[in-house]
Amino acid sequence: MSATRHDSPGTVPASQPALRDQFGRSIEYLRISVTDRCNFRCLYCMPETGMQWLPKSEILSYEEIAEVVRQLAPLGLRRLRITGGEPTIRPQLHELIRMLHAVPEITDIALSTNGVRLPELAPLLREVGLDRINMSVDSLRAERISHIARRTLGFDPVRAAQAAEDAGLGPIKINMVVMRGINDDEIEDIARLTLTHPWHVRFIELMPVGDMRALTWEHVVPSDEILSRLRAIAPLTPSAGPERGNGPAAYYQWAGAVGNIGVITPMTHTYCASCNRVRLTADGRLRTCLFGDHEVDLRTPLRAGEQLEPLFRQALADKPKEHQLLQMQIGGLRALSQVGG
Ligand code: SAM
Ligand code: SF4
Repeated sequence: MSATRHDSPGTVPASQPALRDQFGRSIEYLRISVTDRCNFRCLYCMPETGMQWLPKSEILSYEEIAEVVRQLAPLGLRRLRITGGEPTIRPQLHELIRMLHAVPEITDIALSTNGVRLPELAPLLREVGLDRINMSVDSLRAERISHIARRTLGFDPVRAAQAAEDAGLGPIKINMVVMRGINDDEIEDIARLTLTHPWHVRFIELMPVGDMRALTWEHVVPSDEILSRLRAIAPLTPSAGPERGNGPAAYYQWAGAVGNIGVITPMTHTYCASCNRVRLTADGRLRTCLFGDHEVDLRTPLRAGEQLEPLFRQALADKPKEHQLLQMQIGGLRALSQVGG
C-alpha cells in the first residue's frame, strides 16, 4: 500500500506568509539535487571524461536535505523535485523520499531520472511517498541511446516508463532534448508514444551550456519547427496538460491521442515571469535562477545549527527578474548536472 498525502495539493494557508520574491513570484517549488554524479554522460550535459565530482563530505546528507525542507515548508514550500546528476544512483534514495514525505506541508514529490534504475526501484519509491516521475528519453533506438549517453547500459526506455506507471508514479512525463542531426529524426516517433500511452511527451530546446564542445547553437531545433513537423502528421490542438502551478511547458494534443505533447522553450521564449522554483544544489547552495550566479550557501549555517529563514529571504530578494541565457556565451555556464537542471 503506498503512502498517502497529508492534504490536497495547492495553495499556502492564509495564516502563513508565502515566500515571495521582489517581483511578487511566490516560491512553492524546490528542486533538490542529491548528487552531481551520473551513470550517463549525455552529450548535452557532461563531458565524457574528466568530470570533477564533489567530495562526499561536501554533499548534504539526507537528514540535512530534510532539515532544509522542514525549515522552508512553514514559509510556503509545497512541492519538491528530486534531481541530480542521476538521483537514483545515490544509495538508499527511498530513505530521503520517506523523510520528505513525512514533512506535513509537502503535498507533491517528483523525481527526474534517466530511467535506467526505474524497473528495479519504482515500486519502493512509490511506497515511501514518491508521487510521480519525469524521465529523459532522447531516443528509442538502443544504439543511439548509447551514442547520446556515451554509456551502454542496455535498457529500454519505454519499458522503464511503463514500470513507473505500473507502480503508480503517473502521470509520466517524458523529456526529449532535441539535437539537430543527432536525434531530431525521432521527434515524430517519440510524439507517437502519446497515441497509445497517457504520457506527457515534452520536447526541450537544447541549451548550449557547460562544456559541450560537440554541440553548438546549430544543433538547437526551435520549438516552432518541432510543432510544425508534428502538425504535418495531424492537426494539434492546445491542451491543458498536467502541470500544477506554473510549469514551463505549453501542451498540445493530436485528436484521439491519450497523452499530450509539450514544448519547453528556454532558447526561444523565456518563462521567467512565471518562474516559481528555486534549487538546492548537492553541496547545499540555494540557487534562485538556473543560470547566473545567484546562490546562497546553506550548508555552513546548517552544520552550525543556525536558522535558515533569513537566508531564504535574502536569496529570494536577490532572485533575478529573468535569466540572461540568450545574451551569454556558449560554455560560460555550468552544466545542468551541476546545478540540478
Ligand atoms: N539525470 C536526470 C535526467 O536526465 O532526467 C536528472 C538530471 S538532468 C540534468 C535534468 C534535465 O535536464 C533532463 O531532462 C535533461 O535532459 C536536461 N538537460 C540537461 N542538460 C541540458 C541541456 N544542455 N539542454 C537542455 N536540457 C538539458
Ligand atoms: Fe546524467 Fe541526466 Fe545529465 Fe544525462 S542529463 S548526463 S542522465 S544528469
